[in-house]
Amino acid sequence: MTQTEDKTLLSTEDTPLVPIEKIVSLCKRRGYVYPNSEIYGGVSGIYDFGPLGVELRNNIRRYWWWSMVQLNDNVVGIEGNIITHPRVWEASGHVENFVDRLVDCKNCKRRFRVDHLPAENLEQNKCPVCGGELTEPRTFNLMMETYIGVVEGERMKTYLRGEACQNIYLDYDNVQKSSRMQIPFGICQIGKAFRNEVTPGNFLFRQREFEQWDLQFFVHPSEMQKWFDFWKEYRFEWYKGIINHKDRLRFRAHAPDELAHYAKQAFDIEYRSFIGWQEWEGIHWRQDWDLSRHSQFSGQDLSYTDPETKERYIPWIVETSGGVDRTFLYLLLDAYEEEPPSGKDKEGRTVLHLHPWLAPVKVAVLPLQRNKEELVSTAKSIHNRLKRLMVADYDDVASIGRRYRRQDEIGTPFCVTVDFKTLEDQTVTIRERDGMTQIRLAINELPGYLLEKVMWR
Ligand code: ATP
Repeated sequence: MTQTEDKTLLSTEDTPLVPIEKIVSLCKRRGYVYPNSEIYGGVSGIYDFGPLGVELRNNIRRYWWWSMVQLNDNVVGIEGNIITHPRVWEASGHVENFVDRLVDCKNCKRRFRVDHLPAENLEQNKCPVCGGELTEPRTFNLMMETYIGVVEGERMKTYLRGEACQNIYLDYDNVQKSSRMQIPFGICQIGKAFRNEVTPGNFLFRQREFEQWDLQFFVHPSEMQKWFDFWKEYRFEWYKGIINHKDRLRFRAHAPDELAHYAKQAFDIEYRSFIGWQEWEGIHWRQDWDLSRHSQFSGQDLSYTDPETKERYIPWIVETSGGVDRTFLYLLLDAYEEEPPSGKDKEGRTVLHLHPWLAPVKVAVLPLQRNKEELVSTAKSIHNRLKRLMVADYDDVASIGRRYRRQDEIGTPFCVTVDFKTLEDQTVTIRERDGMTQIRLAINELPGYLLEKVMWR
């Protein structure tokens, strides 16, 4: 197996953390993210993704899939449904245990999750914001209910899945047999999950509808530690490879009182942002818990027989579970920079240093002037050629400097400028986003040059 190269886009020197308001504003202004149902006043914890947002999401998803499923011969993918049999959620423990305990401040009316309160506030029953008295904890189940069927009285109550990974356990036996997978092997999935979060907020960080990615890796119990360590490192390197500020990434080991009863250990990969160090992805030791529970509740034997030794056992599981939305948010926070005026750019600029692999628009083609027919037609023909290979913009409105800045702000890694020299010698200028360096290249060499930079390897 190969892991992706660790490419540093910028120096690792730390810069001030970006306030979330800047990201929210850029997202709305440039078409990354909008509040859902905004014309009706919005719904807390639910968002829509605009034209650039959907491109970025697709790139994040595809890159994850490529590096998890495509690069690893012993991993395959599935796409399970959001709605399942309701017994699934009894077996998983969600109906009984998927709860948050919540307190309200009697004074400022703010609401807190008990597990997020600092210990001293919990002990003293004191609001961490205004010091007011807190209410007794109340318990909320996070599962969203829905109904299958049309006849009143015969409708079956079920749930929108609270975590996407359950489908992997449900399909485990089918995948193992139909794909002739032998242990150790993994199943990946990306899909929507729904939680009635009691404290949604911090923009995309905690939503009520969001998208998760999971790997469930099935192993012989004797090899559990080896594979746990392997995937833990693999996932850390994956995140490190797509951010600029490597020092904002770390592992956090779960304390003994956080661990599930079956877990020998668990780690969060955390990122530091305006909300401090918070989870990006969890690496979990699930042992035989999930397959045993589903065997017990469904009555189906989900054990595995080793083809050589004939040993029969319930496979143990290493889980890596993260999210598309949190990745989206953290990538924007990591990439955003307001550069002051300098020798290179006299006005200063806002720039998204997104990895070229993930940037929503890969290249913008810009004729130097829009009133020169030959410049425009040459630029349009270059754009037509490039857009078949990658997401490419064409822009001829405003001065070239303003057009560069517009592209910098959305993270476009390359701009191609068609000028008068192009008409003489069939070369163009390629301007690179981060260093604002420019090189001259023949039009014929352009597709190869750009593909080399924007395709993941
Ligand atoms: P938390 O403790 O923050 O509630 P969790 O431990 O319940 O998170 P998991 O159930 O392990 O989270 O979910 C796996 C991943 O799904 C998280 O690492 C995160 O990236 C993402 N995720 C979980 N809840 C949300 C949410 N409400 N909104 C957006 N992403 C989420």
